[in-house]
Amino acid sequence: MCAHKNRKVRVIMNTQQIIETAEEKLIHTYNRYQIVLDKGDGVRLYDTDGKEYLDFGAGIAVFALGYNNKEYNDALKAQIDKLIHTSNYFYNEPAVEAATALTKASGMDRVFFTNSGTEAIEGAVKLAKKYYYVKNGKADAEIIAMQHSFHGRSMGALAVTGNKHYQEAFGPMIPGIKFAQYNDLDSVKELVNDKTCAIIFETVQGEGGIYPATKEFIEGVRKLCDEKGILLILDEIQCGMGRTGSMFAFQQYGVKPDILTVAKALGCGVPVGAFAATEEVAKALVPGDHGTTYGGNPLACAAATKVFELFEKQHVLDNVKEVSAYFEEKLDELVETIDVVVERRGMGLMQGLELSVNPKDVIAKALDNGLILFSAGTNVIRFVPPLVITKADVDECIAKLKKSF
Ligand SMILES: *Cc1c(COP(=O)(O)O)cnc(C)c1O
Repeated sequence: MCAHKNRKVRVIMNTQQIIETAEEKLIHTYNRYQIVLDKGDGVRLYDTDGKEYLDFGAGIAVFALGYNNKEYNDALKAQIDKLIHTSNYFYNEPAVEAATALTKASGMDRVFFTNSGTEAIEGAVKLAKKYYYVKNGKADAEIIAMQHSFHGRSMGALAVTGNKHYQEAFGPMIPGIKFAQYNDLDSVKELVNDKTCAIIFETVQGEGGIYPATKEFIEGVRKLCDEKGILLILDEIQCGMGRTGSMFAFQQYGVKPDILTVAKALGCGVPVGAFAATEEVAKALVPGDHGTTYGGNPLACAAATKVFELFEKQHVLDNVKEVSAYFEEKLDELVETIDVVVERRGMGLMQGLELSVNPKDVIAKALDNGLILFSAGTNVIRFVPPLVITKADVDECIAKLKKSF
């Protein structure tokens, strides 16, 4: 036997060395917590010093099924042993399965797989522009997006992200983008003209501070789009995939987008996103219009397929509905009892507590207390836990949070 096979080739670093090397070698685009995460199990994460954390961030709404899910891991391992990548010049079965599952879950007709959310937005924007071009024979399409939105960091996605701070240094943005006020139908109507090809917004604004769309707004925009022949793009990269208690949040409003973007929990950790569209709209894209080397590769699609399968098998949506009702009650109690907690907003297991102070200190304290949370906007604590949490996990989260105020 080859004894050397078991020998570690890698130099083992301690926690401090990992942090120092990261700060030396990685481009400094994040202020990170001084914690090195090492492994996960269920809804818990462990750092390199063995400290345990209850995870109410799920890697930013990604790890819906919890960590170390055996069936999910086994499906990935099996696909790795079979075939990881092909190229989009060939068919592969996992992509067909994932597309079938995603169209069934969303009511969309066709799918294009990407590697991230921002790429899903790029694709959605290109599809809307191409659809307009086919219809009007002109390439002067405009898009209406929302203030305080977040759609990603690549240039197209950044251009529809209503946050001056993110855009400031990177101009000029792609032209023809206008910003309306979220949940203010009149502000959208004011911006519409005969060049408007699409209106894009998040069904629940995530990074902007956890703001669900009002029923009047989403219905009003849908009606406006129908009247004017404008495409409705709903970004469900964060709020989709069961997070709000339905597979996609728009399904609770009784409206349907023309183009839908999905990512984050779609692969539950394996980088995969998608934009999906109705048949009518999707056919505007033809060979040569859009492409990707990795997008829709067998490994990523095996993950997505397994995610859809496990959502059904583990009754994830039922769990979200049940546990989120309980979670909302507990969060509402905090609004009643803690001075600096102003308001709760959210749907399902996508919740936000707005504070009258910067949430930074509370979130840091929560980390000390073994609870992982993220912020949203400037003054909101965001809760986007794995969708498999129990009421006991909620109790533990609330206890740790209370201690952190
Ligand atoms: C995270 C996010 C994106 C960008 O996704 P990435 O995978 O980070 O590129 C886009 N839209 C929304 C609503 C998001 O939450």
